[in-house]
Amino acid sequence: MSLTAKQKEFDRLQQSLVHSGLQTVRSNELICPLCWQSTPFDDLSLEHIVPSSVGGRQTTLTCRTCNNDHGRKLDSHLANFQQVHDAFRGHGHLRTKLNINGNEMVANLQWKEGQKSFHIVGKASNPIALTTSEADFHSGNVDEFTFTILYNYARNNFKTSLLRSAYLVLFKHFGYEYAKHSIANEIRKRVMDLSLEQPNIDSLIVEARGFRPPFDDQQYVIPGSINDAEFCLVILRIRRATTKYMGVYLPLPCDDCGKFFKLMNSFAKEQNGLKMSIPAEAILKSKQSE
Ligand SMILES: [Zn+2]
Repeated sequence: MSLTAKQKEFDRLQQSLVHSGLQTVRSNELICPLCWQSTPFDDLSLEHIVPSSVGGRQTTLTCRTCNNDHGRKLDSHLANFQQVHDAFRGHGHLRTKLNINGNEMVANLQWKEGQKSFHIVGKASNPIALTTSEADFHSGNVDEFTFTILYNYARNNFKTSLLRSAYLVLFKHFGYEYAKHSIANEIRKRVMDLSLEQPNIDSLIVEARGFRPPFDDQQYVIPGSINDAEFCLVILRIRRATTKYMGVYLPLPCDDCGKFFKLMNSFAKEQNGLKMSIPAEAILKSKQSE
């Protein structure tokens, strides 16, 4: 870890802390933007805003506990989600459970245009099922088989990971001025506790299909408003072998914070995915692009 990068971000955030009227008990501390605990310099770590496993490079500071916990609970699901997306586009493979005449085996499915092939994973399969199915194939005794794709991620965890990244994008951009508001606290609570049903995460996250970035970056912040409720649409670039853009709507501070979430809930019922063309001028340029 580069100490200078950490020190630089620490100094920047400490200024933001002071400007927004917040305080920590001791002078060498920051408030962790995720768990909101006062944290000394040594217990802070540079955290990727978008996980590095899906191409993120920009960092900010969070406490070590949040950094480690989220890597395990959230970010791995986002990486696995993208791995599935890659596999459907011919990069890598999908893990499946194959069923041939009642015998179950684990197989890797390669998904190429016009051709799908299964490779049985011997080590992960029952040897008796293997020999029986092989014999069935040789004797022409297999009319059809079924398979189930094993998605190695949980929807809630991968979406929460996106919410966390989008929140950290706004924290990087607006600092504690944003994070100190009750609306940011609502989002933080949801990121920290996967069992919370509010705010409804499905209504905040869309796939930004057809998004053509006007310049090369990992994230794009686009301010907007619906029915007087102001928001930022944060578009995140998720990249392994292939690239996907995911959009997260986050409210900006307002008097009636609940209003935005209610609005998004009713919008979510009407839309499924989003085709968008956004002019470059609409995108807020990050002041701290690295
Ligand atoms: Zn923390």
